[in-house]
Amino acid sequence: MRYFADVSKQDRQKIGQALRDIRHFGDRLQVAIARFIEKTELNLFVGPVSVVRGSGSVQLENHKRARKRVEKGTLDLKEAARHVRLNIARETIDTGGQRGIEGTLVHEGKHALDFARMLSTASLGDVAKFFNPTAFQKEYSAHLTAALYLRRRGGEYADEGIRLGLLKESGSDVSVDPEGIRDRLSRNYGLSPERPGARLETASDPPIRPAGPKISGLF
Ligand SMILES: [Zn+2]
Repeated sequence: MRYFADVSKQDRQKIGQALRDIRHFGDRLQVAIARFIEKTELNLFVGPVSVVRGSGSVQLENHKRARKRVEKGTLDLKEAARHVRLNIARETIDTGGQRGIEGTLVHEGKHALDFARMLSTASLGDVAKFFNPTAFQKEYSAHLTAALYLRRRGGEYADEGIRLGLLKESGSDVSVDPEGIRDRLSRNYGLSPERPGARLETASDPPIRPAGPKISGLF
């Protein structure tokens, strides 16, 4: 990752520790997410919740540049990461502790991977291969990824998952709560399978489109 210049040394240490813990405790996808953040030039920003708009968020670093790059042709995931920015709220680090940072990095990291995949598949120029999930699909999958992480991590992490409605408890068993996740998406985001929200291509304005073959000079 490439930190914004004003991210403090302490914040970098805490984020670095959270990524190592995700690699240590996570499943294959969660480990892949942590590696993706660590090993690429993904842009990492820390700022107030009013700017980040939530405990974390993901956006294109510069949508015009990303669009231009997609039009130029094949872009792999690693290169696509350079155009993606992951934001973490100051408040997540200060009040959420390591648990909050890990949960946010797993959730937002899944989004970041989705953004990079959207750009990379758009660059192939084939509409059938274009990865372009709806907001509902994107949020459901990030919530599910975070839920599975909190469950694996156990203890206070699992308690947090239960409190958020991502996990449920029956007896001594803790499992993912698909209905709880849907309730949360409906309540907090106004998203449901019937109201799936915008597709990921609209992260850019105008939207990212698969770069078609250039037709010129036919007539
Ligand atoms: Zn999200």
